[in-house]
Amino acid sequence: MLVDQLNDYQSHIQREYLLSYLRLLFKMIHYMISKGGSEALLQTLVDSARTASPDYNILLPLLRLLVKVGQRDKKFGKKALELEALDVTLILARKNLSHNQNLIHCLWALQVFASRVTTAAMLGINGAMELLFKVITPYSRKCTRIIRAATEVLAVLLKSKSNSRRAVNRGYLNGLLRLHQDWQSHDTSNDFIQIRRSLLLCLKHITNIQSGREVFLGAQGMEILFTTTQKYLGNQSMDAIISIVIQILRKCYPKCSLPLSTASSYYSFSVPGSMSSGPPGTINEGKLYLLHLLLKDDDLETDLKKLTSKPVLSWREEELKQYEAMCLELSHNFQELNSKSGDELSSEEDLGIHQCNYFCNIPTQTSSKKHCQERDQSSQGLETGDTHFQDPPLKQMKIMKSTGDTTYEEGAPGKIGPYLSSNDQEEDSSQREAPNTQASFKEPPWGAEVCSCQNKNTFLSSSIRIDETSETVSKFLERHPMDIPFHNPYTYIAKAEGTKSVPGFKVLAFPDVWGHHSPPFSQPMLERKCGIQRAKIFEDVQRFIHPDKVMGRVVFSLDEPWLLQSTDATEYLKFSSGFESGNLRKAIQVREFEYDLLINADVNCVQHQQWFYFKVSGMKAAMAYRFNVINCEKVNSQFNYGMQPTMYSVKEALQGRPHWVRVGYDICYYKNHYRQNPAAAGAPGKCHYTLTFSVTFPHNEDVCYLAYHYPYTYTALMAHLDFLEKSVNRKKVYFQHQVLCQTLGGNPCPLVTITAMPESNSSDHLQQLRQRPYQVIVARVHPGESNASWVMKGTLEFLVSSDPIAGLLRESFIFKIIPMLNPDGVINGNHRCSLRGEDLNRQWLSPTAQHQPTIYHTKGLLHYLNNIGRTPVVFCDFHGHSQKKNVFFYGCSIKETLWQAGCTADTSIVTEDIGYRTLPKILDQVAPAFAISSCSFLVEKSRASTARVVVWREIGVLRSYTMESSYCGCNQGPYKVSIFLKNDLINPGPMGLQLGTRELEEMGATFCLGLLLLQLKSLTCSSHFMAQASALLDARKDILGHHLHRLVYSFIHIHFIFICSYFHRYFTIYIHKIHGDNIFFNHSVFISA
Ligand SMILES: [Zn+2]
Repeated sequence: MLVDQLNDYQSHIQREYLLSYLRLLFKMIHYMISKGGSEALLQTLVDSARTASPDYNILLPLLRLLVKVGQRDKKFGKKALELEALDVTLILARKNLSHNQNLIHCLWALQVFASRVTTAAMLGINGAMELLFKVITPYSRKCTRIIRAATEVLAVLLKSKSNSRRAVNRGYLNGLLRLHQDWQSHDTSNDFIQIRRSLLLCLKHITNIQSGREVFLGAQGMEILFTTTQKYLGNQSMDAIISIVIQILRKCYPKCSLPLSTASSYYSFSVPGSMSSGPPGTINEGKLYLLHLLLKDDDLETDLKKLTSKPVLSWREEELKQYEAMCLELSHNFQELNSKSGDELSSEEDLGIHQCNYFCNIPTQTSSKKHCQERDQSSQGLETGDTHFQDPPLKQMKIMKSTGDTTYEEGAPGKIGPYLSSNDQEEDSSQREAPNTQASFKEPPWGAEVCSCQNKNTFLSSSIRIDETSETVSKFLERHPMDIPFHNPYTYIAKAEGTKSVPGFKVLAFPDVWGHHSPPFSQPMLERKCGIQRAKIFEDVQRFIHPDKVMGRVVFSLDEPWLLQSTDATEYLKFSSGFESGNLRKAIQVREFEYDLLINADVNCVQHQQWFYFKVSGMKAAMAYRFNVINCEKVNSQFNYGMQPTMYSVKEALQGRPHWVRVGYDICYYKNHYRQNPAAAGAPGKCHYTLTFSVTFPHNEDVCYLAYHYPYTYTALMAHLDFLEKSVNRKKVYFQHQVLCQTLGGNPCPLVTITAMPESNSSDHLQQLRQRPYQVIVARVHPGESNASWVMKGTLEFLVSSDPIAGLLRESFIFKIIPMLNPDGVINGNHRCSLRGEDLNRQWLSPTAQHQPTIYHTKGLLHYLNNIGRTPVVFCDFHGHSQKKNVFFYGCSIKETLWQAGCTADTSIVTEDIGYRTLPKILDQVAPAFAISSCSFLVEKSRASTARVVVWREIGVLRSYTMESSYCGCNQGPYKVSIFLKNDLINPGPMGLQLGTRELEEMGATFCLGLLLLQLKSLTCSSHFMAQASALLDARKDILGHHLHRLVYSFIHIHFIFICSYFHRYFTIYIHKIHGDNIFFNHSVFISA
């Protein structure tokens, strides 16, 4: 009715009536739009404006109302176009160029009309841009309201590509740049941010088209924007301006290909069969992740048949028979138990066979010193036991508390690690330094191999031999006695000889030989400095603007080794990566203290650049070196959210601190201007990302190793297994190290069996052993996920330890462990793939013995167990996660998948055991890093050929999981709270701790505890087991009593809590609050408090 009245009254009723209706309409906009109000108002506008002498007293409120309506009516632009309101408004605007009040109303209306791109294009055709340009040029401080409105309309109009083209053709871009300069320089008190912002938006839209970018570059746009914005960089109030400038600069930075001769890996390896995936054209991981995010629900498996049916075993009985040999525990008669007299066994104990107490893998300064002393008494220390480790864990804790820590006490308050106080440290350490260190450093034994080589072949082969390394290690050990639990340099060197790499590595990385010892401090996530990414991008743009200031000196290159200078140059860092798991392809010095780094694609691949691990030397202490890894591939990274890379300093190690530690600041990760050459890569226009970080090295002329994450090599694993095998108590622990198969690269893939030795070889005892359920744990199918190996290390050490809980676990289960499913990938510094360039965790549906031997035989072994009626209780595959925090599970649930997908199928016919949630629930309670909230049990189509899905569907393991550990850290639970180190508070800030090897190993051990608790909760739990477990846990209760201030529990077994605190070796736990099913812990963490 109102609308009708509007049309009628226009000519008949007096102006006051109309105005009162307009006011009413303001209040009823939505209703009015639905009743055709927009059309009526537009018609009114057209009619009023077309009269001989328009009445602006009507027109102005009408235009204001139109603006209000237009903002709420999605089809307003279209309606305005059809009713010719565009032309009318443009004409009105032209007429009123000198009448500000009328003009500004027209501009507001035009801005609303132009919000639809086709309408904007039409306005452009009708000359709107010429009009607006006339209004905003030349620069003037008069009528700024009009200028603001006009620039806003122009910015909206230029969203249309045809308008942008028109603007380019008419040369407006130059004019806009000049205006931008004028406003930036004259608006010193920042009163006209809106105008400046709109002008930049105009430039942003124009440079969306190719010709716009070309003209922009030709008009020195990069230089102009860079210069006008540089002074505002640190100014947060200028955010609105800077962010648009950054967008324009990044977009217009000319794209170029990477400074590499080929996109494919520098290393190639001849493999059997044609490669099915990985070669050019395959979708990269970054895209996959994006797809994963976008299509999450679409990707869910909703085919009930596929979810519920178990495929028929396609393996023949004869094929499965080969796995009998991998389950010797089922057939072995343990005759040796008879032949061995009690005396012999006890003499073994005297030799220290017991030393695998779990707690020696969480070393303390005290334990280190003990080891050192014993080393003095025996040449190599490998066979030497340390009976002190049989102390119960809490006794150990007391010892540690009463012993002064000589190394870290001296740190300034609040300092977390040695690398954060490099200046003081340098002075300190020079005093402590053994006199010989400096001399020995003139010829670092693991550093001299590369520089003097003139061609590729000698570059790769002329390196010090391993036996020479052994001699050097002896010399070093004489001067710098050290010991690291479960590590021995000589074992490592011996094992390294058997490791086969594609490049034929002959050099051993110092950290691997010398070993890593978890530092006695935890490291918080790095808080990101505000505006750091902008600052870094500006530094990048500076290279474009002042190419003369870019050094561009190649200082390391696998492809062009002849470029390397043999002179002992002091003006640049020396790099190398020619050792196991090493990955660095090229290093270019771009400024005095800045290097661009390029990493190698996976072997036989053109992609997956993410893992890096290289050696650097020749540095000056206390200088900030910036490193840019410029060919990363993932679309985002935890490096943007508190994660730091890791570093190992040889000088620090020789001074008694052999630690990989998190280092680096000013860290960010962003898309850069490098695009892969489509011809070379087959993946057109693939983007690259820069990881940039700065490092201040702790010593002059040190040798440091930098890595994406804590390295853990294949040789390290083999040495570790050797060590474990030699040190387990053979009377109690059945530890069998077998070869699952040979990899494509010719390396044996280890299979470890751990269970308890039978008490005797009586048939009862043998029977008991053979009836123990199986647990299968695998890890490191993805070589870049070294965190998975540290978790696995914790699992292995715990399982063979003298801890009574480990004993009970061994008596209850047979553990089948494949600690490294992709040795070749690990050895050759791959991030994701096997030597065939395949992601092995996408090959579980139909692996072949020839192409994916480790997957084929793991699956075969699982099939065999299934076939003999011994399906594992739990199957778990350890991984690392680059996008999320904490540790969490992926599992498989039919119902959760169907519900999430909103599937209409009748799920009541599906019976599902919800037992798949029990283990994650337990771990959420007992493992500090674990977060059940991050777990997912959805079955995705794109994950159909992963281990967990195949083992779940084909083998029928209900509890089939992937356990993901963050590369970064924890943002929940105990690792998000404050920690006291000595008397200094380490504040992990709002973000929490980064995961270190200590926390990862702890996760591995706690995982085992989870298996025990799972068994306690299961219906099949025997009364014998229950009694044993209870006794064990009650014993702990007394020891732990004084640590527990208050104890409350709901449905959860009280023992959970005891064990939980037992696992927080250094931690005092207060159970703070019970809420529903969850216990929230308020952990105050003290280290030697
Ligand atoms: Zn993975």
